[in-house]
Amino acid sequence: MLAAALIAWILIRKRSSSTETETDTATSSAATESGYRRISEADHQIPRRYLDDNAMKVVYRLEDAGHEGYLVGGCIRDLLRGLKPKDFDIATSAHPEEAVELFRRGRLIGRRFKLLHVRFGREVIEVATFRASHDQDEVSRDQARTAETGMILRDNVYGTIEEDALRRDFTVNALYYDVKDHSILDFAGGYDDLKNNRLRMIGDANARYREDPVRMLRAARFAAKLGFDIESETANPIRELAPLMRNVSPARLFDEVLKLLQSGHGEASYRQLQRFGLFQYLFPLADQALESDEFPVETLIVNALCNTDRRLAQGKSVTPAFLFAALLWYPLQQRIRELEPTSDLPPLPLLHEAANQVLGDQVRCTAIPRRFSTPVREIWELQLRLPRRQGKRADQLMEHPRFRAAYDLLLLRENSGEDLGGLSQWWTDYQVANPVNRREMMPSDLDDKPKRKRRRRPRKRPANDQSQSQGE
Ligand code: ATP
Ligand code: MG
Repeated sequence: MLAAALIAWILIRKRSSSTETETDTATSSAATESGYRRISEADHQIPRRYLDDNAMKVVYRLEDAGHEGYLVGGCIRDLLRGLKPKDFDIATSAHPEEAVELFRRGRLIGRRFKLLHVRFGREVIEVATFRASHDQDEVSRDQARTAETGMILRDNVYGTIEEDALRRDFTVNALYYDVKDHSILDFAGGYDDLKNNRLRMIGDANARYREDPVRMLRAARFAAKLGFDIESETANPIRELAPLMRNVSPARLFDEVLKLLQSGHGEASYRQLQRFGLFQYLFPLADQALESDEFPVETLIVNALCNTDRRLAQGKSVTPAFLFAALLWYPLQQRIRELEPTSDLPPLPLLHEAANQVLGDQVRCTAIPRRFSTPVREIWELQLRLPRRQGKRADQLMEHPRFRAAYDLLLLRENSGEDLGGLSQWWTDYQVANPVNRREMMPSDLDDKPKRKRRRRPRKRPANDQSQSQGE
């Protein structure tokens, strides 16, 4: 029985952790009969002002209506690490249908998990009913379904708080903040693991990754974000199970990619993904391109991620379009090279054709919503247009909505070792130059001066053939 095995695992962990870790403060925290430990406010020292007001309102409302309500998961983990939580999640004993009745601005969402969203202006607080783990012997097929690989397909089995804790992924994500006395409930030894910088899967890691392969990505992400060591039993199965990533929906993987690479620890996450052989399942073309000795593929990827991390640290905005444009830039170049010998398309239509193919391959792994894939194409197209600067073109290019992102990619390319003849420096200078200097910067012998074509007798062309005007 999975549930029984999990509880046995927790009891063993509890016994061993109280002897092996120096942070286990037996005097200040109480282990209770049902196998959890309560860490008092005096010990955990999370300042109350850091608790989100709206999340607290939701918890108090649930408690006032006679249910249990706790802040749980990443928010408690991050507060204990001194980090600002991304969001505040709530776990409750109330069933979704009961909980939704309590909130005027509440709405039930989700198929895989039924969740309550309570809206406060732009903030959304997510409330989940305590869930139990799956045991095919005990629950009806309707409530929980598992695929042949062991992957959970549907997951709406409600349970107790203890069961809820044990079906979470890592011990540090299974800490519950009790607003009644401001203590923390720890069912899986996560408090000690957190103090010891240790990422540990709850239960048998192999089985837990099979249930949900995204947990492998989450392991890589938390190790990167928190600077934790992944405990060996948690780390060991990942390499072998990495191919299970193929069973995860592209939409979910897109979300995970953003959390991994665009949350301020992208470079560290990339290293973890490579360490576990996971990157190839997110960006197969970029991963293959790493073998090329023609292009500085890894340098560009790492520089792009460091650049993103830096921007986020400075509070600047980042866009998935730039990330995908950078990671797929060399796969695009390789595809162009492959198509070139048999294609008589001019450079720009050739780029469009290669872009279609590369993005088409990529969306089989990670979805890319159209609002991002269109700008990716524009950023790539501008790489062809940025060398052509004469006359009014430079000023016109600067008006392009994607100019900034395209210029950033140009800089990255040159900084990563591509020889563009100092083009990015030229654009850097041009942007800050005054109009007089700008005119002076426009040497008459620019090598991209348009070559006058000999006038030919006009030939009738189909209305939608724009190749010449775009490709010039
Ligand atoms: P962050 O919000 O910083 O990305 P998080 O841990 O809060 O990290 P969420 O995706 O917000 O991540 O999930 C909230 C909580 O739900 C987690 O802390 C964990 O307890 C649980 N959880 C999320 N995803 C899984 C999963 N795939 N398997 C088991 N538990 C999960
Ligand atoms: Mg969260």
